[in-house]
Amino acid sequence: MIIDTHCHLIDQAFAADVDAVIQRSIDADVQKIVLACCDETEFPQIIRLCRRYADFLFPSIGIHPENMADDIDTQFKTLFSDENWTTHKGEIRAVGEIGLDLHWDKSRIDDQRKLLVRQICWAMEHDLPVLLHIRDAMTEFLELCRTTLATMLQSNGKRLRGILHCYSGTVEQAKESLLYGDFMFGIGGTLTYKKSTVPDVARAIGIERIVLETDAPYLAPVPHRGHRNEPAYTAVTCQALSDLFGISADEVARITTANAATLLRL
Ligand SMILES: [Zn+2]
Repeated sequence: MIIDTHCHLIDQAFAADVDAVIQRSIDADVQKIVLACCDETEFPQIIRLCRRYADFLFPSIGIHPENMADDIDTQFKTLFSDENWTTHKGEIRAVGEIGLDLHWDKSRIDDQRKLLVRQICWAMEHDLPVLLHIRDAMTEFLELCRTTLATMLQSNGKRLRGILHCYSGTVEQAKESLLYGDFMFGIGGTLTYKKSTVPDVARAIGIERIVLETDAPYLAPVPHRGHRNEPAYTAVTCQALSDLFGISADEVARITTANAATLLRL
């Protein structure tokens, strides 16, 4: 029984055959899938698909840094409206994917920070975990935790919890992040790539802090690399972790599923 904690099944890449993809996931022993939301246009589509597969697909709500509108204030209010919360609070399992991305565009880093802080505050107010997308920005994220977020989290007496999705930072950064929140680390296809640093990081973090994910349709594991990814391929990552930790694939599935189920209340 596997949980894919991060997937984009409403992506155009699945438009023609999403039902077949879901059936293959079920056949591959995937028990539950969390659909990551990138903006206000995706959210209703995600809700529709999740309702077709109730108790199998679960929605999140969030604005990805690459999907920021020019006016982030209006965008935030549109997605995180009282109406969306009142209507969907029984369904929403996380706030995400949200974060910082300095890979392509560094020009709006201040807006990225503002939007991230606002979404994290909303997540904490509503007692939800966050799905964090931190790309080439782990230094900036930790800085934000140390400054703005640390004060906020302390004053609320609460602790941030969530998943650092597709984790690509260092071991030291992973350890530092745990000072600021109860994080799990999302491991997917990149674990299997040649020259990947993820195996070393995974070993240092330990299986007790790992959850499985695909980020499908992106980042397919070897031998599917370069093709469309899908939740059924979590089995490949599961096997790679089994080899890495020297425990059975069943044991990897059991532990990572328990980690995900507790964090996301699945
Ligand atoms: Zn994603």
